Amino acid sequence: MVAADEVFGVSKVSNSCGLTRPILEEHRGIVHRLLDFYCINPSCKCGETHLSVIRVDKDTAASDEPWITLRLHFEGKVGLSHVTGPLSRQQATALITEWIQKDPALLGDIEARYRRIKEIGRRILGRKGK
Ligand SMILES: [Zn+2]
Repeated sequence: MVAADEVFGVSKVSNSCGLTRPILEEHRGIVHRLLDFYCINPSCKCGETHLSVIRVDKDTAASDEPWITLRLHFEGKVGLSHVTGPLSRQQATALITEWIQKDPALLGDIEARYRRIKEIGRRILGRKGK
């Protein structure tokens, strides 16, 4: 698993790493941020991203401690599994569904990042073979 922000060299500023989606902000001043991790093995067709949802209270220092983690399967049918943290699978599904509804580009962005990371994996393996 690799963190997308490491691969893409996104700035380390805490509010701009990962797939920064500061939505659901209206929930009592809590901002939810998504960190996306992908499998870089080009021959693996898992079609999923490991997401960490980080909750940041606007008034306190940012923490990178994930609130919940889950796997999002986005190839074919969108599905959730491996939910850890205080939410049930149903609650986590509702949260992610709300997220996708408010941010229709989210799934496309995740798929694009998945494909780019596989491409990077292919390049790394190609280099090793020479
Ligand atoms: Zn995989």
